Amino acid sequence: MGERIQITVAKSAGFCPGVKNAIDKVLELAKHSQKHIYTLGPLIHNKQVIETLKEKNINAVNSVDEIKDKNAILVIRAHGIPPEEEAALRSHGMEVVDATCPLVKHVQENIREHAQKGYATIIVGDRDHAEVIGLMGYTQGKGYVVNGPEEIKDLPRLEKANIVAQTTQEGHVFLAAADEARKIARELAVSNTICNPTRQRQKETVELSRDSDLVIVVGGKNSANTARLFQICERLAKKTVHIEKEDELKAALFEGASKIFITAGASTPSWMIEKVLEKARELAGRAESPLLEKLAFGWKLLVTGSLYTAVAAASLTYVCMKLEGAPVSGKFLLMAGLFAFSLHIANRAVEKGAAAPDRARKLLFVDYRAQSRFTAMLCGALAIFLSAALGWKVFLTAAFFWSAGMLYPYKLPLGFEKFGNFPASKDILTALGWAFMCAYAPGLWHGGALSNSTQLAVFFAFLLVFTRSVLFGVSHAHSDMIVGNENFYKAAGPRLTYFTLFAIFILLSAILISLKGAGWKPELAASLLTGMLYYLGLMLFFCFSRIPERITAETLIDTQFLILAALAWKA
Ligand code: SF4
Repeated sequence: MGERIQITVAKSAGFCPGVKNAIDKVLELAKHSQKHIYTLGPLIHNKQVIETLKEKNINAVNSVDEIKDKNAILVIRAHGIPPEEEAALRSHGMEVVDATCPLVKHVQENIREHAQKGYATIIVGDRDHAEVIGLMGYTQGKGYVVNGPEEIKDLPRLEKANIVAQTTQEGHVFLAAADEARKIARELAVSNTICNPTRQRQKETVELSRDSDLVIVVGGKNSANTARLFQICERLAKKTVHIEKEDELKAALFEGASKIFITAGASTPSWMIEKVLEKARELAGRAESPLLEKLAFGWKLLVTGSLYTAVAAASLTYVCMKLEGAPVSGKFLLMAGLFAFSLHIANRAVEKGAAAPDRARKLLFVDYRAQSRFTAMLCGALAIFLSAALGWKVFLTAAFFWSAGMLYPYKLPLGFEKFGNFPASKDILTALGWAFMCAYAPGLWHGGALSNSTQLAVFFAFLLVFTRSVLFGVSHAHSDMIVGNENFYKAAGPRLTYFTLFAIFILLSAILISLKGAGWKPELAASLLTGMLYYLGLMLFFCFSRIPERITAETLIDTQFLILAALAWKA
């Protein structure tokens, strides 16, 4: 057997906070404003993300003159621009939104303050980079750009100078430049303005590259910070490649490589890194353990193909029927499974960001978008058809939730899309739909809509599915997918999200403890209470650990329903 292959992904990989902030800003604008949205230059240096933004009618222009419709919004991207250019933009009467990264603003302020005190500015960076062009605007005409210590020698002697770094500069280049600057300036202020996210990224890259046989740097070929990472890795690792997409990886690259490190530039979304990781595992892992690779692929197929979600919904229905004291009927399990499967697969087909078909999806569907929509329609229609046996009210409500779920990702006429602007609307709608199909429909069939056990099961299901949907949102946001306020996590932020989820845990546990105490299905209540330990573990894991890649995260989240069903079966 060959040497064990170890693939490590940089913890710091994925969008930096400045890029995240700029993307969130334009997405919120696109959602709430009827105006056209333009960014001055591409928002980030990543083709795939730019394509996704274009689909949302967010387009890049190189100059304000390219915008014919003056009733538009122009966004200044994270790199910032010179103050005089900003003033000129605002004089056009157009709405201007500033998405400059706060850390770049901090450098601009530093330069402005020193310039006001008579300091000349030396910027260590790329003179053609947008951020550096913007910074030069704050130097009051006394600015110099150098790409490293060598170029300092060409500068004139300076009375007072302030040396700053482009935020993505390499630390050692800046320090060497500062040493050189001391020789030409009588008084030198050293402002190391390399941003913290860049420092962490570079530190991790240096530490892990040294020990690697192969380093894969993922990011736009026109991204300066990705190019810089590539240079660092090339100096330290045995073999380094710079790729934009996973399909640029070839098997030959992995020959003889047992320690592989994947890192990425600040404008590379995490979902792209996940795709590269998957491809690297496929190419490197095949030689190591074909069986393990096949098992992993099979599992991925189950989760990506939404089958695991269908099993989760059927499991929840089983738990609810037990709570309701209803005889377990396969019809209801099938109905809920089909309903959840249909909506999940339809929504996956239109996902922004991670939408490009991966190997598992390609295998499931030749033309995955068209065929998954067809499958979703077929399974949804079957679920609604089954619900018709419970009367026209159930039929209409099931049809309503299913249609709302199917149409949710699309812009609808007559202002209906406004529902999607409501914070957490996606999580609430999902929880209502599942609670109806998994708890209300079987409860109605067995004991009537108003029976205590039906109401309890509906409440139980609603809270559990709300939690599930919120955690899916957390996972998607950490994958740098294009998600907005329709997700509770995005709308409320991490603190309030985890506070709410822990509050739900306490509420559900308290209900189960009181049921047990009151002697109402005490064995079932005790079993489900044990299941709540998994819920607690899941919360703690998401709250305190690194959010795992998407397939693992979704598996962990949906497994809670299978555990609860197993415990309910045993009770
Ligand atoms: S690299 Fe740093 S300064 Fe630049 S946008 Fe990202 S966080 Fe902001």
